Amino acid sequence: MDVQPDEWIENNDDLMNNESGGEHEYMIMLFYIYTVIESVADTITFQKNLCEELFLKGRIRVSAEGLNVVLSGTKSNLQCYENRLLAHLNGTVTSQDLDVKYCPFRSDIPASKQLFDYLSIKKTKDLVSLEDQLGDEETNTFKPAPHLSPKEWHEALQSATSEDSIIIDARNVYESKIGYFTTPFQDGCGAPTLLTNTRRYSQLPPILKESVHHLAGKNIYMYCTGGVRCEKVSQYVQKLANSDDWIGEKPKVFQLKGGIQRYLETYGHLEADNVDDESSDQIMHKSDGNFSQSCLFQGKNFVFDQRRFDPQVGVGTVGACNMCSMPHFDYDNGHSPSENREARCCRCRILVLICSSCREKVVCAGEEFSQGKIRVFCGLNGTQCINEGNDFHFEFKRHVRIIP
Ligand SMILES: [Zn+2]
Ligand SMILES: [Zn+2]
Ligand SMILES: [Zn+2]
Repeated sequence: MDVQPDEWIENNDDLMNNESGGEHEYMIMLFYIYTVIESVADTITFQKNLCEELFLKGRIRVSAEGLNVVLSGTKSNLQCYENRLLAHLNGTVTSQDLDVKYCPFRSDIPASKQLFDYLSIKKTKDLVSLEDQLGDEETNTFKPAPHLSPKEWHEALQSATSEDSIIIDARNVYESKIGYFTTPFQDGCGAPTLLTNTRRYSQLPPILKESVHHLAGKNIYMYCTGGVRCEKVSQYVQKLANSDDWIGEKPKVFQLKGGIQRYLETYGHLEADNVDDESSDQIMHKSDGNFSQSCLFQGKNFVFDQRRFDPQVGVGTVGACNMCSMPHFDYDNGHSPSENREARCCRCRILVLICSSCREKVVCAGEEFSQGKIRVFCGLNGTQCINEGNDFHFEFKRHVRIIP
């Protein structure tokens, strides 16, 4: 039996004790699975008992259509959870189907502060919700788009041009602000990346509807953090392409299997490796052992756990201070995300990037106002909130660089 996290925090409040690579290493586990859940209530009871037995904490969403899970704990206990879950699902689901991602902790903040401090298990209607814009089981006849492995994705993006392709980031604005995919420079016209800049997932359908003229006849490459969001959005794009709102030729839609998480496991590098931008282009990729083209993901992978971003990173740094435009990617300004010191808009509470020198001069949501300081908002230069209804400010990113 493993040490209980709470005990461990008290005795070992020191990241040096997070033995990297060992079975007692603390990690984040991430997976989703679409499978028929016969009894949601029984599944919730099973999950609760199993997590308590193995000292795992985090978020579990149980729906009649499957499971969406993010947990923290020791590697050995997380692996035990996976095996027990597979046994519980009684052979209906394989380990490949679960495709569990085991993600390392950041090395720049204490490991104890990256563990979840709660266990939330809830019943939901959908694993991720487009708020009925996809239609229910009977009316939605569209299948999720075919998956591309990280290698297939990497190769497809290498040759994608603005004539034939578009990449769609299916995540929210505060996620793509610190990292996104771009394609290499292709005779001046690599495929653009559409940052939809949504505030929540369910805003994607109206934005895609407004963007149909960018999507007609294209290969559409969609990605998100771990893959779960593209399953539904890729169905929505196909629904849209078969509706009266569509103009022109039908698209071919693809989704990145395992999301940015899996891509960076192959093409990214651990931030602790301290690889500078230039030499990361020359990294030997772990999976194929060959020198290949540089990582196509720039910046960091935003995550919804106590790490804020995964230490497995892409090329360079993406992000800028909302006030002064200086390069900046840290919503928490050096604090652990679990300390809740992150900068948020005073009106809508969305995360905003504020560099440390601007941070001293401003008041963010949840902070007491003091004389001489100014309240910060999410709009341009931090002056006003981009409120709901006025926030369809999608943008395109293009990568201009010479392939070595
Ligand atoms: Zn996705
Ligand atoms: Zn600044
Ligand atoms: Zn705002």
